[in-house]
Amino acid sequence: MAKERTLSIIKPDATRRNLTGKINAVFEDAGLRIVAQKRVQLSHAVAGAFYAVHKERPFYNDLVSFMISGPVVVQVLEGENAVAKNREVMGATDPKKAEAHTIRAQFAESIEANSVHGSDSAENAANEIRFFFAETEILP
Ligand code: ADP
Ligand code: MG
Repeated sequence: MAKERTLSIIKPDATRRNLTGKINAVFEDAGLRIVAQKRVQLSHAVAGAFYAVHKERPFYNDLVSFMISGPVVVQVLEGENAVAKNREVMGATDPKKAEAHTIRAQFAESIEANSVHGSDSAENAANEIRFFFAETEILP
């Protein structure tokens, strides 16, 4: 399988608890390379647009409020099978259902404040990477 890229976000619950390094170590130990990374404060408009796919879901407004409650770390991860590998190390959306070795099982506070976002398909990864990064900011 060729190298692939995925978009990752370390969410405000994790940056607040100073967990960026511990989460990045999980990515690197899994063979994912952090090829772009920036710490940003999302605006309501940007967070709302990023999660527009969830607009009709009951948790959408709370999710947008949570995502702007503090800084996030937006990153591009690269590696073999990066989309699926990242989803594997993230664990299930609900940390109570996530496998013990995963980021969400170890660090998440709740189904909403679940520490990380990861693209769910190669096509969405390409769109999400373009949403946050110029190609010149990605340095393998
Ligand atoms: P994932 O992040 O695992 O891909 P989804 O795309 O379904 O999960 O949901 C996006 C985000 O919305 C989740 O990571 C979580 O922060 C939040 N979320 C999902 N389901 C719920 C829920 N039932 N209640 C509150 N927040 C939720
Ligand atoms: Mg998702």
